[in-house]
Amino acid sequence: MSTVITNIGELVTNDPAAGDGLGVIRDAALVIEDGTVAWTGPAAGAPATDESFDAAGRAVLPGFVDSHAHLVFAGERAEEFAARMSGQKYAAGGIRTTVERTRAASDDDLRDNLRRLIGEMARQGTTTVECKSGYGLTVEQEERAVRIAAELADEVTYLGAHVVPAGYDTAAYTRLAATDMLSACAPHARWVDVFCEQGAFDADQAREVLQAGIKAGLAPRLHANQLTQGPAVQLAVELDAASADHCTFLSDADVDALASSRTVATLLPGVEFSTRQPYPDARRLLDAGATVALATDCNPGSCYSSSMAFCIAVAVRDMHMTPAEAVWSATAGGARALRRTDVGHLTPGARADVHVLTAPSHIHLAYRPGVPQTAAVWKHGHRVG
Ligand SMILES: [Zn+2]
Repeated sequence: MSTVITNIGELVTNDPAAGDGLGVIRDAALVIEDGTVAWTGPAAGAPATDESFDAAGRAVLPGFVDSHAHLVFAGERAEEFAARMSGQKYAAGGIRTTVERTRAASDDDLRDNLRRLIGEMARQGTTTVECKSGYGLTVEQEERAVRIAAELADEVTYLGAHVVPAGYDTAAYTRLAATDMLSACAPHARWVDVFCEQGAFDADQAREVLQAGIKAGLAPRLHANQLTQGPAVQLAVELDAASADHCTFLSDADVDALASSRTVATLLPGVEFSTRQPYPDARRLLDAGATVALATDCNPGSCYSSSMAFCIAVAVRDMHMTPAEAVWSATAGGARALRRTDVGHLTPGARADVHVLTAPSHIHLAYRPGVPQTAAVWKHGHRVG
C-alpha cells in the first residue's frame, strides 16, 4: 500500500542537507510506503500510488517527538494546581500524592489512562512518546509501570529515583533503585533517569543509579537544574546522557558543557507555565550552540498538558525562540534527545510520522496559540488522527 500526500503548501522535512533548519519544500508531495517515507519533492513530480490525500495547500510537518512525559499514573491533582495558582509554592513532594493513587490502581486502570493520553497526543500530532515510570517507588510497582509503558509508548524510561518514598532514608532508597528495582525494570526500559534536585537525589546518588543503569544496559538521561542551579547538568554531560531535561537554572559552565557535548538540553516550558516559575533561557543555549529539544513533561502535577503546539507557542512568546527553531526542537530536537534517527524528519527512509496542519505554515503553531490546528496524522504509515 502506498499513499501520496499531495498539494502540500509547505513541507517541513528537517533535512539537514537543506542547510536551513527546517528544510522546507514548497508545493510539495510526500509518498508513504510500507510505513516509511518513500519519496519527497515537488508535487508535479510525484510517482503514482494506490491512494492519495489532498493537503489543500496546507503545511505538513514531521510528527512531534515528545521526549519527556510521565504517563503511567492514576489520579489527577487539579486542586493542587488551583492552590498553587492562589500563591502556594511548587515543591517536589506533591509527587507522593500521585504515588498513593497509582499504587492503588489496577493494571487495567493504568493501561487505560496511558492509552487515553497517548491517543490525546496523537490527535494533536505527537507520534513519538517517551514515558517514564516513577509513581510506584517499590520494586513491584516500578516493574509494573515500565512493563505497562512498554506496551504502548515508543520509548520507556526507568525513573525509580523520582522521589524518596515515605519510610525510607535517601541512601537506602538510592541503593534499592540502583540494585533490585533496576534489575526488575531494566528488561522493559531503554533509559534510566533520576530527579537530581534538592528534596530528591543529590549528584552522588544520581550517579550511583545512572551508572548502575548503564551497567544494566540502559542509557542515561536526567532531570537537571529544574528548581536550583545544581550539579545535574554537569553530571549529565559527564555521563554522556542523551538529554538534560528542564535546564531552567544554568551557570555559564553548564551552558558551555551542554554546547560542547552530545547532551541535548530539553526544555519543558509547560512546567514553568503551570508552576509559575521563570522560563529556561532558550536563547542563551541556542546562541552558545547547544542542541535544544522541547517536550511537554505531561504529568498530573507540574504540567498536565500533552500539547506540543502549546510548548512551541510558549517557547516562541516567552523563551525567544523563533517559530522555526521551536518547531525543529519539537520534532528533530526531540529525536536527538532520544538518539533516534528514524523520527523527527521527513526525508526518504524516515518512519512515516506525518502531521498535516489546518494552517498554511508552521508559524501558525505559535501565531495561533490554543487553536487546534491538526488536520491529519500518520504514525508509521497508519492514520492515527
Ligand atoms: Zn519530568
